[in-house]
Amino acid sequence: MTSAARTARRRLIATAAATAVAALAVRAGAQPAPPVELQRVSEHCWFVQGLAALGTRENRNFISNAGVVVTPAGVVLVDALGSPALARELLAAIARVARQPVTHAVVTHYHADHVYGLAELRRAGATVVAHASAREYLGSETAPLRLRTSIEEGLTEPGTTLVAADRWLEADTTLELGGVRLRLVHVGPAHTPEDLAVAVEPDGVLFAGDLVFRGRVPFVGTADSRRWIASLDRMLALAPRVIVPGHGPVSHDARADLQLTRDYLAYLRQTMGRAAREMQPFDDAYAATDWSRYESLPLFRMANRINAYNTYLLMEQQRE
Ligand SMILES: [Zn+2]
Repeated sequence: MTSAARTARRRLIATAAATAVAALAVRAGAQPAPPVELQRVSEHCWFVQGLAALGTRENRNFISNAGVVVTPAGVVLVDALGSPALARELLAAIARVARQPVTHAVVTHYHADHVYGLAELRRAGATVVAHASAREYLGSETAPLRLRTSIEEGLTEPGTTLVAADRWLEADTTLELGGVRLRLVHVGPAHTPEDLAVAVEPDGVLFAGDLVFRGRVPFVGTADSRRWIASLDRMLALAPRVIVPGHGPVSHDARADLQLTRDYLAYLRQTMGRAAREMQPFDDAYAATDWSRYESLPLFRMANRINAYNTYLLMEQQRE
């Protein structure tokens, strides 16, 4: 197959996967959003948990999590939620548990549901910190177009702006505030080029952005699983005890969740890589593969075959 045909085929597969995700989210999308309420994670860490759904007018685009690290000298936020209104509610919730000022807002990645509240956080005094790789997306035509669509669809309010970081990171860095050490680690490119994870060292808590899935089969889509595995290895090296993901509930078994995602991706590459090398047709290879370790996991039926197929195509390319 020519590489153009392969690219077209990959796009088709990615679209089919996105449609499946959308279908899953339709039911949840009609639900109203939960209140923006802090959940305690550890001595210094809290988070608010959005709905597992696509953004809609009804759920107010509250579909992602935001992290809160309270230190004696100030409060560090991880991500900014999906609208200025949600960010204001987040600030109000923080004011009920801490009197310290908000000093930093760290962006895990520049996806709409994680950054549309940034202007409010900056207005409250936060220095916005993100990885420098995000500058390309922010400077692209896509970013303002997506924002305009989100406003038209009522996901976020008119007047929402895209906020560039005040401090662009070129390398991993440490932020020490009120005696609490935070490691800001570049774990991309995986979900996005700029993926940043925040480790709160004294608490063993890792705010992992969108790179970790908890106790379920991930949607691989067209992500490069080799890079994704490298990201998971970097997070495993941080040895967190607790993970707060960008979506969904907190994990108190961080190593197991990181390892599960990692093993699954590696298994896809191993089995589908062999099939691609031996030019075995995908359907035969899929049927001959032992999926018993994963088939009881949530979303296996929905995601596994398409993940395997995407990996098969990827391995054909990476062979060249
Ligand atoms: Zn996300």
